[in-house]
Amino acid sequence: MSRPQRTCRQPHGTVARYAAGCSCLECCEAWNVWNRDHRAGRIKDVSPDAARDHIKYLRARGWSVRAIATQAVVGYTTVWAIVRGERQHIRPSISDAICALTDTAVVGGPNVLIPARPTLKLIQRLRRRHSRIEIARACGVSPHSLPRHGQRSVRVATAQRVEAAAERLRIA
Ligand SMILES: [Zn+2]
Repeated sequence: MSRPQRTCRQPHGTVARYAAGCSCLECCEAWNVWNRDHRAGRIKDVSPDAARDHIKYLRARGWSVRAIATQAVVGYTTVWAIVRGERQHIRPSISDAICALTDTAVVGGPNVLIPARPTLKLIQRLRRRHSRIEIARACGVSPHSLPRHGQRSVRVATAQRVEAAAERLRIA
């Protein structure tokens, strides 16, 4: 399994923990039960208010919308729709996954290494319109420090810089 992993305060056996990337028996079971119930119409969608408040909190702490979407394993456009108040109801699993996000900078520190792939994909998209030097400048790092193709991991702080730069350059 190569599902993205992230820090999660929720215990095993919860949908939030599964959404955070855990594939243990308990988490998979919680996910299966939730899916079955949702398909059977036993789970009602919830108000997006709690998720929107938490997104606001995370953004105030420097998270980009893309980082929130990636870390919560929720669609990027869904997160924006919640921010803009375009959704009246959301699936409880989406609300849970967003609300379970903890500030990485506090939990693991900015030097924690995470998989580089999302960051490299973002740089690749930026490269369509910008040079490496321009991107590095937008990220506030030297061109040498900008993650390179083939790199396996990046620091959380670097990933966040690239995400913030991408959002500023409006390609996100
Ligand atoms: Zn688990």
